[in-house]
Amino acid sequence: MSAGVTQSLERLIEGWSGEAVVARFDRPTGTWIFIALHDTSLGPAVGGCRMKTYPSPQDGLRDAMRLAEGMTYKWAGIGFPFGGGKSVLAVPRPLTGDAREGLLRRFGRLLDTLRGTYVTGEDLGTTPEDMSIIAEETSYVHARPGELLDPGPYTALGVFAGIEAAVRAAGVNGGEIEGLRVLVQGVGDVGAPLARMLAKRGAEVLLADLDERRAAVLAEEIGATAVPADEVYATPCDVYAPCAVGATLNPGTAEELRCAIVAGSANNQLDSPRVADRLAQRGIVYVPDYIVNAGGATALPMVAEGADEDRIRERVLRVGDVVSEILARAAEGECTPAAAADARVRETLDAAAGGRVRLSVS
Ligand code: NAD
Repeated sequence: MSAGVTQSLERLIEGWSGEAVVARFDRPTGTWIFIALHDTSLGPAVGGCRMKTYPSPQDGLRDAMRLAEGMTYKWAGIGFPFGGGKSVLAVPRPLTGDAREGLLRRFGRLLDTLRGTYVTGEDLGTTPEDMSIIAEETSYVHARPGELLDPGPYTALGVFAGIEAAVRAAGVNGGEIEGLRVLVQGVGDVGAPLARMLAKRGAEVLLADLDERRAAVLAEEIGATAVPADEVYATPCDVYAPCAVGATLNPGTAEELRCAIVAGSANNQLDSPRVADRLAQRGIVYVPDYIVNAGGATALPMVAEGADEDRIRERVLRVGDVVSEILARAAEGECTPAAAADARVRETLDAAAGGRVRLSVS
């Protein structure tokens, strides 16, 4: 490694508010492995493993740090006894076959040496199959060898509960799901099961996906209407549920949107914090993404432990309670739901630092 790369990695770590970084260069594949541990005051760091090609190792480390901090917010926001952590496998090119498996196994053995300080799971660029391979090397992964665990339906259930809570709090459509007009953007692992649940409960569902065929097939299955992907923001609806990519809430779409509520699974929906203020000024209730999309993250540790399905669903549905609480706090404190959620996180972390909080998984 060049002295320049070392120095810039060191500078990034020095300037970070997190607790620790584990960095390793995987010579057989030319991959930088970064494990970022942001805040473990609530418990062991838990967060997914992202596999991606970055312009430089520094970009990979920066991403791991940013994502680890996001996990601190997610766990504290929904009251789970975990800390914020994330790992990045910054691969030089897409890896398949033996090269991929070898990297995953060496990563699994590295995790094992951390003895549970950090527990990993699936994220962008990694699959349930990958997690099952890692599970053959270490138990510090929310997966089981030979079994494919899919968080998508649980994330969808949490989003559904969040939409229900937001609709009630805002009094939209008389607080009912039946007859509610919901536009789901992205009908993948989360969007598709969410759309099915909404349709089953009598909502009027609109679907949009870059893959128009995918949207059309699902629309046919559940009796929904497909909307062209570039017409999403201007289409009138009660709830816009972004379940595709981040940063769809920007100064342009904040003016364009014709909905009462935004609640969906996509990560990092706000392209800047100011957009939350603008949405509030326009009377649009934005349900913070890291709260409403936490269903899969809360379910996976329980699924991996073999917990009873009813208990898992009951825990995931508590996403709705947290959303209700945050929206009530925002109304009382005359602040945005995003500010109310962040305040809740800070209180939980402060209480943990002072030994005044006891959280449990179930
Ligand atoms: P996915 O890849 O299975 O599905 C995404 C879908 O969105 C695809 O069908 C894709 O064609 C479509 N899409 C992409 N860009 C689009 C655009 N601009 N307009 C319309 N459609 C577009 O992903 P997923 O697992 O369903 O996750 C969706 C989002 O939720 C992601 O942002 C993800 O990070 C986030 N998330 C997922 C989970 C989970 O459990 N899978 C948990 C938390 C957060």
